[in-house]
Amino acid sequence: MNLVFLGPPGAGKGTIAAIAKEKLGVPHISTGDLFRAAIKNETELGKQVKSILASGELVPDSVTVEMVRERFLDKDTKDGFILDGFPRTISQADSLADMKQIDHVVNFLLDREEIVKRLSGRRMCKSTGKIYHVLYNPPKVEGIDDETGEPLIQRDDDKEDAILNRLEVYDRQTAPLISYYKEKGMLRDIDAKGSPEAVLAQMLAAIGA
Ligand code: ADP
Ligand code: AMP
Repeated sequence: MNLVFLGPPGAGKGTIAAIAKEKLGVPHISTGDLFRAAIKNETELGKQVKSILASGELVPDSVTVEMVRERFLDKDTKDGFILDGFPRTISQADSLADMKQIDHVVNFLLDREEIVKRLSGRRMCKSTGKIYHVLYNPPKVEGIDDETGEPLIQRDDDKEDAILNRLEVYDRQTAPLISYYKEKGMLRDIDAKGSPEAVLAQMLAAIGA
């Protein structure tokens, strides 16, 4: 099953994708994670996008589409995938349509106040990418990853200024994808406010799994 998770930053797409990938047996492809890995490994791509990610702006479409095109060459995407954070512009959605047939676009609905709470409390393990929240999903020991024992970090783009910019970027550039996919009959709205288990159950029902 080829899935796209659409929604504002902080809506819980990555959290649900991390659980759903086991259940559906498909890889979780997060363009944000791919960019962060490139930055961590100091690749050419990483150097190119580092300041863009810190500011909350979008990486140019051509660079992003090329990265996804390369990811699709990996065999694990043959029988399905969950795309998280891609596409984020109409142009990216058009490019995706040329590369793959998408079965469902799951639209995560969450109010602004809750989005800001989720983003400002988000913490992650830099080496594994595991996501926590200081209140909603805390680690066993404060500030420490449960598996690796490494200190958790706050993403630069989860600091206040960048959060506001990212929400503006979402409204301007990504929200138009809602009507784009609705018109194509591909959009499946879900209420992202409940517990991860409740959101997962809704998502599975929405895609008929
Ligand atoms: P996205 O991938 O959409 O940007 P994340 O999955 O990283 O969002 O979630 C943002 C933050 O909200 C994280 O700190 C995560 O732990 C927390 N979170 C995700 N889903 C839920 C939920 N259903 N209830 C409470 N907190 C959640
Ligand atoms: P995310 O982890 O999905 O919140 O993405 C983090 C950041 O990576 C975004 O704020 C953008 O700077 C960049 N990014 C991720 N996905 C895309 C995309 N599809 N198009 C452009 N930039 C992206």
